Amino acid sequence: MTKITAQPGIMEIALYQGGKSHVDGVANPIKLSANENPFGPSDAVKEAVARAAHDIHRYPGTDHAGLRAAIAEIHDLDADRIICGVGSDEVLQFICQAYAGVGDEIVYTEHGFSMYPILAHACGATPVKVREHERVVDVDAILEACGPKTRIVFVTNPGNPTSTMIGLSELERLAEGLPEQSLLVLDGAYVEYAGEYDGGARLVEMRDNVIMTRTFSKIYGLGGMRVGWGYAPREVIDVLDRVRQPFNLSTVALAAAEAAVRDQAYMQKCRDENARLRQWLSEALAVHGVATDTSMTNFILARFHSQEEAEGCEAYLASQGLIVRKVAGYGLPEALRITIGDESACRQVAHAVGQFKAQVAGTTEAGKS
Ligand SMILES: *Cc1c(COP(=O)(O)O)cnc(C)c1O
Repeated sequence: MTKITAQPGIMEIALYQGGKSHVDGVANPIKLSANENPFGPSDAVKEAVARAAHDIHRYPGTDHAGLRAAIAEIHDLDADRIICGVGSDEVLQFICQAYAGVGDEIVYTEHGFSMYPILAHACGATPVKVREHERVVDVDAILEACGPKTRIVFVTNPGNPTSTMIGLSELERLAEGLPEQSLLVLDGAYVEYAGEYDGGARLVEMRDNVIMTRTFSKIYGLGGMRVGWGYAPREVIDVLDRVRQPFNLSTVALAAAEAAVRDQAYMQKCRDENARLRQWLSEALAVHGVATDTSMTNFILARFHSQEEAEGCEAYLASQGLIVRKVAGYGLPEALRITIGDESACRQVAHAVGQFKAQVAGTTEAGKS
């Protein structure tokens, strides 16, 4: 028997399953499985990336001052309470590494992001999954699950893959009710799609136990660049900065993210187009008997009558070159998560779901006769 073993928890990790991006036999499928911005990054970002390429023989800055100043200016925040990471995933990792370990518990919700249990195991802590109520985060259920071992509570708001959200007063009640050694992490990957909601930024400023995380991977169209950030009390930032590698973000990534956040006109255009098409697609699916919750994100959760029907529809969409996300791994076997693509993609999805539903109805009729 080898004496070389991994740290506690590491072997409990089930590898992250990303959204599919290929279909056998289909040349150029439309990928609607990873909540990416169908319009890509803004032109200002592409220009900034091209310019930054001239400087990549130099190490990047370690303090991210330019990017933090831009984020602070646009969102009216305190730059000293911002930390930047390789995607918001890295910020979530800093939080786990710095605040939880063996014997501690990390709470997340029933349909929560699959990175939370991965990050919990990676630091040796125990992930604790709490039920939701009809695909909506249940603050009372979370508070009941918290105890002396709870160090971190993760809430995605709006949620992925549910697309639902809870209001600020509920978040405040949650933050207020947590045990004194627990941090509330508000994962705001989809905040820009949710209207007036500030992601919990003001709550962070009012309290000492709340952290907000945000990303450039979704509305800013920079999933491939890997940039995210967190907003937290100064004491927490001081802790997280100690576990952050000094050169975690590349020169190119920093330039891209700064140009992205400064181009708010493009962001708003993407948000408006998403809102319009999201409404259109959920109404079009309802006509075919496929229900969705009101989405506050850039995807919808399409609910079918059974797991078999959801899987059949996913396979049919794939055969038509449309890749959507199965979410059985998120406790939603009867649903499919469909990213809002451009107008043509949305029309193709609605059409294909209609065709699939007609086939199912035809088979059922034939079975009866
Ligand atoms: C997409 C997503 C993120 C963003 O991750 P990055 O590392 O910033 O790309 C974070 N949380 C949730 C729930 C997400 O869906």
